[in-house]
Amino acid sequence: MINCKKGHLHPITQMIDKINSIFFVLGFEVADGPEMESEYYNFDALNIPKNHPARDMQDTFWVKDKKDILMRTHTSNVQIHYMENNKPPLRVIVPGKVFRNEATDATHETQFYQLEGFMVDEVTTLGTLKAVLKNFLEKFFNKKIDIRFRPSFFSFVEPGIEVDISCFKCGGRGCSICKNSGFIEVLGAGMIHPNVLKNVKINSEKYQGFAFGMGIDRLGMLKYGIDDARLFYNGDLRFVQQF
Ligand SMILES: [Zn+2]
Repeated sequence: MINCKKGHLHPITQMIDKINSIFFVLGFEVADGPEMESEYYNFDALNIPKNHPARDMQDTFWVKDKKDILMRTHTSNVQIHYMENNKPPLRVIVPGKVFRNEATDATHETQFYQLEGFMVDEVTTLGTLKAVLKNFLEKFFNKKIDIRFRPSFFSFVEPGIEVDISCFKCGGRGCSICKNSGFIEVLGAGMIHPNVLKNVKINSEKYQGFAFGMGIDRLGMLKYGIDDARLFYNGDLRFVQQF
């Protein structure tokens, strides 16, 4: 008799399913787009200037012998494709693979998964963003979570913010996970820059929107207490079977 062992979904796939179902309840739909992309959709349309360091050879995989074609460095390219083809109001998430040309270590991979999300409507504020993120993060981590916004800069949003969540391990008292600060940095976000809306022919006088991006691997590391992101990708069954 053949001993047939049943498999199950990979932990990254399980997390994407969970993320999709949480945002579905909030009225978001899931979009997909190309992993090999033109420079325009990955950078120009997102208001990332020609001289921006993210365009350097160190960070971006350019496709050999193809001018202006690259492996997308974020899933924000889908934001542009989607906004070009759909009219507001928009509520969309984009989970997908992204690529960075950098050395790998415990927290950096050349290929990883990112979750992009955006909303465009007539009245969309940072308050809306905070409510959406809090709802998502509390459901994903299954914990009560406080959120903190810090000012930051990303070319495609204005204002840009870094989002920290209260440390669910120590409850804010300080521990090794939060480096004794009580908070953990989880994602970047902001209000979509008017130039980005202009590039997709959405009237920025009438509509505003927010966008956010986070690493799905990073969410998984925090949720399951994993200290090396490479475990998600090396195919070791002893790891995968724990999920
Ligand atoms: Zn802590």
